[in-house]
Amino acid sequence: MIEKPTGSRAEEPHCSGTLSLDTLVARGATYFEPVTGAISTPIYQSSTFRHPGLFESTGFDYSRVVNPTRSELECTIAMLEHGKYGLAFACGMGAISAIIKLYKPGDHLIVSEDLYGGTYRLFSEYYAGYGFSFSWVDTSDITQVEAAIRPETKAVFIETPSNPMMKVTDIQRCGELIHRHGGHLIVDNTFLSPYFQNPLDLGADIVTHSGTKYLGGHNDTLSGFMVHARDELEDRLRNVQRSEGATLAPFDAWLTLRGIKTLALRMERHEKNAFRIAHWLRGHARVEKVFYTGFEDHPQYQLSQSQARGFGGMISFYVRDAADVPVLLKSVSLILFAESLGGVESLITYPLVQTHSAIPEAMRLSAGVNNRLLRLSVGIENPEDLIADLAAAFRHCG
Ligand SMILES: *Cc1c(COP(=O)(O)O)cnc(C)c1O
Repeated sequence: MIEKPTGSRAEEPHCSGTLSLDTLVARGATYFEPVTGAISTPIYQSSTFRHPGLFESTGFDYSRVVNPTRSELECTIAMLEHGKYGLAFACGMGAISAIIKLYKPGDHLIVSEDLYGGTYRLFSEYYAGYGFSFSWVDTSDITQVEAAIRPETKAVFIETPSNPMMKVTDIQRCGELIHRHGGHLIVDNTFLSPYFQNPLDLGADIVTHSGTKYLGGHNDTLSGFMVHARDELEDRLRNVQRSEGATLAPFDAWLTLRGIKTLALRMERHEKNAFRIAHWLRGHARVEKVFYTGFEDHPQYQLSQSQARGFGGMISFYVRDAADVPVLLKSVSLILFAESLGGVESLITYPLVQTHSAIPEAMRLSAGVNNRLLRLSVGIENPEDLIADLAAAFRHCG
């Protein structure tokens, strides 16, 4: 049995064992709580912890710094992402903001142009103002990444598949490129989850997640993560987490742990449903184009297959007529019109006004996010019910 870690870090990369991913998600880092035998990790709703004596500690002192429920989650996510260290934050943006603290004013980062709008806002509205500079490029084209490297480039930050255009970036080649330059590769792995993709195995230095999405999986809590295996970064990253305080609360850590237990089952179903719905959408007369990495004619289909174990549950599509958008959003009933993704409930999003509203028009359009683009986070419902809902909504159009 795996020992319960007594600090804020997994001392060993437990994932080096022989357990497969579907076992790891169901069981987590620790199989039971050693004091009482509780099989569900207890919610340690305590802000502080008693010291046995001067210079003595149980390993837990104060919950901003380390909390047992959060530690179990941090070790679990580290195992799932084949890392050594897992750090849990109040949400995905908290994790991303903490990663940027590795760098200094004057440093330059290359970022996927087609990415979560909140990340764009954080970088362009806040960190750019503190003297960081960013180049927004289509990282699915490795020559653009190479061309953007400058002497002061410290990292490449990618989302793959990208949000919402489903472009796939070659993780390994991006890593090789930036490593030759002495920088880091950071991958936002929210869309595929560790069930389908492990960027650290492909040479990424840091993986980040919005755990609000597939990891939590139930649209009921926010959480965010970073995972890495670099001893030389761990103290700095842990210190940012401890100092800034955007740490995950015990109850939210427990909800995320509970969500992760079914990650394997959910991801299989999300993917199966998305495959069915993507093909159905593609055949619909009111749909102009469907963006889905599982299509054999997706431009990076081979790359997806070589670096990921699945295509995930996300689909974007252009309708032919922008006038259909408000009608569809009003007419769907089983599928809910809401921001976010990765939960058991299917959601439809209008990136232009929701997830990507912070991105300037020219950049949005160049990435392909126009007024005819809709994004579907396919849930785990019966796919025929979802198709019937879409079909009925389309009948209200035109
Ligand atoms: C939602 C999301 C984020 C931000 O995460 P929050 O938990 O909402 O803070 C970052 N990256 C991607 C790809 C996301 O989908």
